[in-house]
Amino acid sequence: MTASVNTKAYQSLDAAHHIHAFLDQKQLNAEGPRVITRGEGLNLWDSDGKRYLDGMSGLWCTYLGYGRKDLNQAAFKQMEELVYYNLFFHTTHPRVIELSELLFGILPSKYSHAIYTNSGSESNELLIRTVRRYWQIQGKPEKKILIGRWNGYHGSTLGTAALGGMDFMQAMGGMLPDFAHIGEPYWFAQGAGLSEQDFGLKAAQELEIKILELGADKVAAFVAEPFQGAGGMIFPPANYWAEIQRICRKYDVLLCADEVISGFGRTGEWFGHQHFGFEPDTLSIAKGLTSGYIPMGGLILSHKMGETLVEKGGVFAHGSTYGGHPVAAAVAIANIKALRDEGWVDRVKNDTGPYLQKLLRETFDNHPLIGQVQGHGLVAAIQFAQDKATQKRFANENDIAWHCRSVGFEEGVIIRSTLGRMIMAPALVATHSELDELVEKTKRAVDRTG
Ligand code: PLP
Repeated sequence: MTASVNTKAYQSLDAAHHIHAFLDQKQLNAEGPRVITRGEGLNLWDSDGKRYLDGMSGLWCTYLGYGRKDLNQAAFKQMEELVYYNLFFHTTHPRVIELSELLFGILPSKYSHAIYTNSGSESNELLIRTVRRYWQIQGKPEKKILIGRWNGYHGSTLGTAALGGMDFMQAMGGMLPDFAHIGEPYWFAQGAGLSEQDFGLKAAQELEIKILELGADKVAAFVAEPFQGAGGMIFPPANYWAEIQRICRKYDVLLCADEVISGFGRTGEWFGHQHFGFEPDTLSIAKGLTSGYIPMGGLILSHKMGETLVEKGGVFAHGSTYGGHPVAAAVAIANIKALRDEGWVDRVKNDTGPYLQKLLRETFDNHPLIGQVQGHGLVAAIQFAQDKATQKRFANENDIAWHCRSVGFEEGVIIRSTLGRMIMAPALVATHSELDELVEKTKRAVDRTG
């Protein structure tokens, strides 16, 4: 049963007091947001009692689904034992230490140090400061430019909006110096006439061109999502990351993976860089770290970077009151243990991931409105296109996809649109029948869009 709330009253109070993320407020207030009141597994209910299958794990975070009692109890138990302490001023606490022991047990042996934050944005803001600090310690303070990708998303703070490649975000707060961008590896949109592999090399080599243009002695790092999420859900061609890694090593540029949505089993490997076969120097994490039950993020450093900061760095001039919060750490421990011990990551790799990818291809490969189906594990995108053979996109593809998303709500499924693509990233605990429902309802929404 859903809690009984008065939808209209909530909507009007919401309109009176809230400015929502990434939406036109007037338009939203005219339509009225759905008031989500309850969640169980992959299901959500709104204030009118309508059920939705959540195909997006909230905002790419509820990996274990909604309503896990063990995660709730881990938080409650920790609140009773020690509700708060921190890693400032000569103190630490058991939960954050236990979390790191667990985390470095699942991470590749290349990594050794973690700094905890409260969100993905904070993890990436910290990344910007940390890579610049690293080069200062190495006696190369002029190495401070970070290169990101157009349409990349790394968060909503001033620094992360500058690092990300969304021009409307940069316009809002003003752009910062010492950031640069290269194109995204979006073969369907930009690679017509080239094989996917040729395009993959060309897209990666843009990095070399940019480094040479700026001067390798000025470039600190290249930062990117293993697959691009919010800016269009773009999966790179198979040869892309190896070439990026070669270029970074050649010019002594740090390679930094934003694993905020690709970490913790989304692709069937624990981390996205393992799935795509490259070895970053840093990993930014959040979301799947706690399955979204409580805010927590972090920056993971390689031995080389961690040890340099410790041995030669002196005071590390960064910290936040809630970084490494004991309650968040307790939830993260319960979450990682559940992902590991209940076998969800393996299941994505060997069972549910291949099942979803096959089903999507069977359903949409020959659909007249769809030009491309892409995905790995439990994350996928379908591209609206006017002509699949020539890779011709609809001029109003953003509107088409946005409309499809609204129709999805009517059909009882939550899927998201980015550019001309419908995207999905269901919880890692999805069953075959839930994936059937997700694809069936998505197809109905796409059919009705046409
Ligand atoms: N990095 C990536 C790749 C993301 O997708 C997001 C959010 O969706 C962020 C960073 C920002 O995380 P947060 O919203 O927790 O600040």
